Amino acid sequence: MIVVMQAGATEENIQAVIDRMVEMEFNVHRSTGHVHTVLGGVGGKQEFDLRVFEVMDGVKEAHRIASPYKLASRHFRPGGTVVKVGGCEFGGSRVVVMAGPSSVENREQIERSAEIVAAAGATVIRGGAFKPRSSPYGFHGLGEEGLALLRAAADRHGLLVSSEVMDITQIPLVSRYADILQIGARNMQNFNLLRELGAQRKPVLLKRGIAATIEELLLSAEHILAGGNYDVILCERGIRTFETYTTNTMDISAIPVVKKLSHLPIVADPSNGTGRRDKVAPMARAAVAAGADGLLIEVHPDPDHALSDGAQSLRPEQFTELMAQLRIIAPAVGRSI
Ligand code: PEP
Ligand code: MN
Repeated sequence: MIVVMQAGATEENIQAVIDRMVEMEFNVHRSTGHVHTVLGGVGGKQEFDLRVFEVMDGVKEAHRIASPYKLASRHFRPGGTVVKVGGCEFGGSRVVVMAGPSSVENREQIERSAEIVAAAGATVIRGGAFKPRSSPYGFHGLGEEGLALLRAAADRHGLLVSSEVMDITQIPLVSRYADILQIGARNMQNFNLLRELGAQRKPVLLKRGIAATIEELLLSAEHILAGGNYDVILCERGIRTFETYTTNTMDISAIPVVKKLSHLPIVADPSNGTGRRDKVAPMARAAVAAGADGLLIEVHPDPDHALSDGAQSLRPEQFTELMAQLRIIAPAVGRSI
């Protein structure tokens, strides 16, 4: 870590900071300039609160050098991690496409969805049976009945299943039907849930929180990895900003940033990322061009009558057209679909 002292900091101030750094097991290197004294700390505790130094008398600023996450860091596995789910590899040379409705609504809808996404080339079907909704009066999902319908439709079309878990108590149930446990944006910092997922051996799709920094996303992944579950797939799904033309602002730059900071695969969800059907394909194309390891896309056989997120769900023919475009874009960045 580095602590820069204010101009005019007293020798007493400087010594107090050095003492605190030594207490935290840092080797301190002092460099005294004309105006500022800079204290460099090497080694030291992995976990500490920078603000402890920032609030000390005479301190101008303090910076961390080592990242606060270890297991999620790129240094831990410089070659990258490939998360294998059935015959699918997240983080390999193929871009994995997960697609399907926001919610499982009924047998016919999910069967039709599976048929559409499989025919277009997706390998995983998505669909929520437990739905986090902003309004308590919205459709909250079919629960186990939805999971059973989803699994049956997936099996008929040779697809894997990704579905959301909202609560620790739902883990065993969703694990029986799904191949991937999706953790929604609203639960990214539900630390009890993350700890429990660390104790499982099911792949986890961890979505970025609505107002979470990339560092917070990686720290949340660290909670799962620390429990021994290394099958974590990160997901950029847009963040809340001051922009109002889209529901969320899709942070495409998070993809290369995460690639540099972490070994974990990262996929993009342009449906929740934009909240508007007409913005989904451009952002999906951009995500693949930016190096995403996969996509999570909402597709509905009849989006105008969807029980959730119809406005951001692609129509079947739009999804088919998008897949054809992605097959052209992926090879340009050394990938296939
Ligand atoms: C979803 O994928 O349907 C969903 C609810 O996503 P998020 O958690 O990103 O809002
Ligand atoms: Mn949705």
